[in-house]
Amino acid sequence: LEAKEEFRHKTLATDVMRPRRSDPPLSVLTQSGMTVEEVERLISDTTYSGFPVVISQLSQRLVGFVLRRDLFISLENARRHQDGVVSVSAVLFTECESPASPGAPPAVKLRSILDLSPFTVTVHTSMEIVVDIFRKLGLRQCLVIQNGRLLGIITKKDILKHMAQMANRDPESILFN
Ligand code: ADP
Repeated sequence: LEAKEEFRHKTLATDVMRPRRSDPPLSVLTQSGMTVEEVERLISDTTYSGFPVVISQLSQRLVGFVLRRDLFISLENARRHQDGVVSVSAVLFTECESPASPGAPPAVKLRSILDLSPFTVTVHTSMEIVVDIFRKLGLRQCLVIQNGRLLGIITKKDILKHMAQMANRDPESILFN
């Protein structure tokens, strides 16, 4: 995202964020309530570089962001080196431990790999500002929130694609759209 030219289009974060209406929903992790097996499946079923972590699927309230790479390594480590970890072990991003049911296998605690303050914008934030922030902070992605609920994600590549699209959209092509 080089700062060569100003981004002067009037588009908003909501125009660029994923998922699109026709896409499958955002792949998120919940801070508790998921098992090692479920998280491993999410990793192998998707190719995303990272996953937002939310309080619950219902609330979609953002807790943080975890990189796919860190998640993969930590689960592999836990499987190898942490005593008693099995497929149905809980994966926890929470601060304090919720009391495990008696006889439950040990949980894998992953709060340490969580980015607790990922960059966020709202659906109404102008892309001009988003582009500026990406450049200044060297971001790879940011999350999009509306009324406290996580709605989407914008990656650097999403922005580059959007810029290319806007550059190609001369008045004539708009007429024929
Ligand atoms: P890149 O955009 O560099 O290819 P990703 O592989 O992480 O990075 O993302 C691929 C596409 O999927 C992007 O359009 C991005 O907005 C979207 N995306 C990224 N993370 C998620 C996620 N956890 N759930 C749904 N879509 C995502």
